[in-house]
Amino acid sequence: MPNSGTLDPVTIDPAETGRTTDGAALVLASLENWLKYTDLTEPARGRKQWAGMLDLPLPDDPAGFEPAIAELAQHVIPNGLPIGAPGFNGFITTGPTTTAALAQFAAAVAGPQRYGVSAFNLLEEVSLRWLAELCGLPAGLQGVYSSGGSTANILALGAARQAAFETRGIDIGRDGLPGDVRAVLYASSESHHSVQRAAAVLGLGRSGVRAVPVDNRQRLDVAALEQLLQADRAAGALPVAIVANAGTTNTGAVDPIDAIADVAERYEVWLHIDGAYGLPAAGVPELAPLFTGSDRAQSWIVDPHKWLATGVGCGATFVRDARLLHDAFTQTPATYLAAGGAPRTDSGTRGRQSAGWAFQDFGVHYDDLSMELSAPPRGVLVWIVLREIGRQGLQSRIRQHIGFARRLTDIAVRHPQLQTLIEPQLSIAAVRFLPTGQQQAQAEIDELNSEILNRIWRETPYYPTSTVVNGRFAIRPAYINPRTTIEHVDGLAAAIVRLGDELTTGARRRHP
Ligand SMILES: *Cc1c(COP(=O)(O)O)cnc(C)c1O
Repeated sequence: MPNSGTLDPVTIDPAETGRTTDGAALVLASLENWLKYTDLTEPARGRKQWAGMLDLPLPDDPAGFEPAIAELAQHVIPNGLPIGAPGFNGFITTGPTTTAALAQFAAAVAGPQRYGVSAFNLLEEVSLRWLAELCGLPAGLQGVYSSGGSTANILALGAARQAAFETRGIDIGRDGLPGDVRAVLYASSESHHSVQRAAAVLGLGRSGVRAVPVDNRQRLDVAALEQLLQADRAAGALPVAIVANAGTTNTGAVDPIDAIADVAERYEVWLHIDGAYGLPAAGVPELAPLFTGSDRAQSWIVDPHKWLATGVGCGATFVRDARLLHDAFTQTPATYLAAGGAPRTDSGTRGRQSAGWAFQDFGVHYDDLSMELSAPPRGVLVWIVLREIGRQGLQSRIRQHIGFARRLTDIAVRHPQLQTLIEPQLSIAAVRFLPTGQQQAQAEIDELNSEILNRIWRETPYYPTSTVVNGRFAIRPAYINPRTTIEHVDGLAAAIVRLGDELTTGARRRHP
């Protein structure tokens, strides 16, 4: 071990810790160019070349500040993932809008943790309150941010599990799962698969999720739910929660939440609302009736990295009872965190005190309400988006996107060679090409549409994904991208027809 005599008298870390303006200047042109989204296929086509520049052995010698940033600008940024491109309507996440991207950078520089007496910490609470109000949720909920909907679901369902086992006198957070209790979750067959994962992580097992059948509009069948509950109750199983979808990922279906809440109350089961994608629509006055009953739940999730376009890494969980979330996720107190701050309370939340220095008050112990201790502030992203566009701006975005899904559906209804497989409830459409004048088996039509979708990805600026509705393959755009315009909707419809025509007439020519 070197003694202190070998220490450099002037400690200079090898990494540059200032020169932010210089560094940013070196990437700005590349970022601006990326945001033109001129050729979506370029990164994938050029893979060999840029992978060769990047996939190198561990560097021994430093490249230095400018050269490292130059590589970022030349090889990384231009070969990013274009999910923010205007024609990209595949994933239900999108690229951040400009203020959100800047807030991500600002948070990295000035708010590297979400705790302490800081504006970033305050904005966690402020934005969670705004977000709940924006989604039409009751006042006074406990919110907490996490990396996204998958984690947010685990947190909410962890609180539900805590509550369910307490009814049998078990503190599961403290004592763990008893071997003799079969605990189950109820979620429609259209629910996001993160519900299954949550069940696995929480010790209920993926097989502990009852897949409740859906009706012909992909909404949970309430009578079937009740039958499953009755059977489980008779068998002595412990119902942990019913998950209702406020917008499924596949088709944007909103479950009949009010009727589900009736069942949940009758059977005294926790109601959780998975609104990762759709819950912001519940705050739009003319859409609110679709979500009636959502204020009757015990927990909710919503992903600001979806319709609010904050950029990925931002999900929110809300619960009525902070104590349950705390008892499910608290860590045993860490002595190094106790220094300076007041001791944490059992509720996991503390009132703010007037503070003379940044670390005097840790703030809300989000670390006791979730799975992360070190975590970036995410509230600043939600805050800046809502400061920029307000509730009105978000509502007009949502209306616009729902209008896009309806427009594509209307085009499909009117066009002899297009078919719609759903009546959109939110901003997702599901359409497909139907060859005219030919009797074709469903399997062939599925195959044809799968081929059309492949060519759309390769040859057009549009990027929908696929889904299966009632066993049939559909091309599925999910509109949540602020950059998408009406031309991208019409352009996608035209591309489906053109490629469908080409593929079918080509096939006829090959096999007369
Ligand atoms: C996207 C989504 C999730 C998962 O969210 P991630 O942020 O991708 O982890 C869960 N539920 C629903 C309904 C979703 O749409």
